[in-house]
Amino acid sequence: MGEQIRITINGDTDFVDQKTLNQQSKTSEKPARRQRTRRTRTPRGPKNPQPKEWLASELSQGYIADYKPFNFVDGEGVRCSLYVSGCMFACPGCYNKVAQQFHYGRPYSKELEDQIIADLGQDFCQGLTLLGGEPFLNTQVCLSLIDRLRATYGDTKDIWSWTGYQWDELQQESADKLEMLSKIDVLVDGRFMEPLKDLTLQFRGSSNQRIIDVKRSLATGEVVLWKNLVK
Ligand code: SF4
Repeated sequence: MGEQIRITINGDTDFVDQKTLNQQSKTSEKPARRQRTRRTRTPRGPKNPQPKEWLASELSQGYIADYKPFNFVDGEGVRCSLYVSGCMFACPGCYNKVAQQFHYGRPYSKELEDQIIADLGQDFCQGLTLLGGEPFLNTQVCLSLIDRLRATYGDTKDIWSWTGYQWDELQQESADKLEMLSKIDVLVDGRFMEPLKDLTLQFRGSSNQRIIDVKRSLATGEVVLWKNLVK
């Protein structure tokens, strides 16, 4: 064995003889330097359906996530709120992620509908709110309740609905969605967009969403915002 030479590789010290060192330097290839590729992450956003791609007739299971009578947060005045189950938009940061599942909660029932109609009869109750989940992907449930409310109370109670659809998207949608839209008073439209989140807004979570006066918008053919909008 020849003269030992002290070498340091990646901080480790070792001793090799001159002959071995010469052989290794001839035969060894330098390890290819691992290319550091910076991963560019595309920010994930909500899904964007084609017109009539998502149909309540195919998706809805007729389930509801919750019913909250006499609350003050789901629209103007005291309201009875029905949270339907199932939504396809999958907005990151969704306020009610469990209700994205169409089988979450319990089946909507005649007994519950009776209860909601009775609750709405209270003088202090201004109206019904539909949210979820996605009300426009549960039109069977929502239209049943809407029609019963109108048959019982006419226009003395108002109807609000939230939706992930934008107003213009809904105009190209299936007949059941258009029917439901024509029977409500106020629509809060659009996906929840996390980068536009603003907790100071009235009744909505991100600044792209709008509170729309449905009757006036349908009458004029353009979006008319709710008259009591402050922010
Ligand atoms: S539209 Fe509403 S319920 Fe549906 S994922 Fe978005 S925030 Fe959640």
